[in-house]
Amino acid sequence: MADPGEARPLWPRLEAGCTAGVSSFTGAAVSQTLRQTMAQLLREGPLTARELAELLLLTPQEAEHHLRHLERSHKHRLRVEPARCRACGYRFRGRRRLDAPGRCPRCKEQRIDGPWFRLE
Ligand SMILES: [Zn+2]
Repeated sequence: MADPGEARPLWPRLEAGCTAGVSSFTGAAVSQTLRQTMAQLLREGPLTARELAELLLLTPQEAEHHLRHLERSHKHRLRVEPARCRACGYRFRGRRRLDAPGRCPRCKEQRIDGPWFRLE
């Protein structure tokens, strides 16, 4: 996997504490645009935080950060499809974290798909 610290040209790292040269107004506007783009992607179909990160050239942590904001601003419209174990099909229901679980509690498999997010 590529180093997440490498150049990501589209979005400044506004929420990571690096706002050099960017006014707070501009920062908020860029962040808003990014979330609108993210919302648009999620309306088109379910995506995982990792897929969103790849599409928007964010680190997985940044993608999760923005997903949390979307979760708050689109309270009843953000649907979460639980993560699923690729080996035994175990579903991680009721899990609140946005990233993929590390391992399946049932069969100890480490290949876990999802969770997937979608906006209605
Ligand atoms: Zn399993």
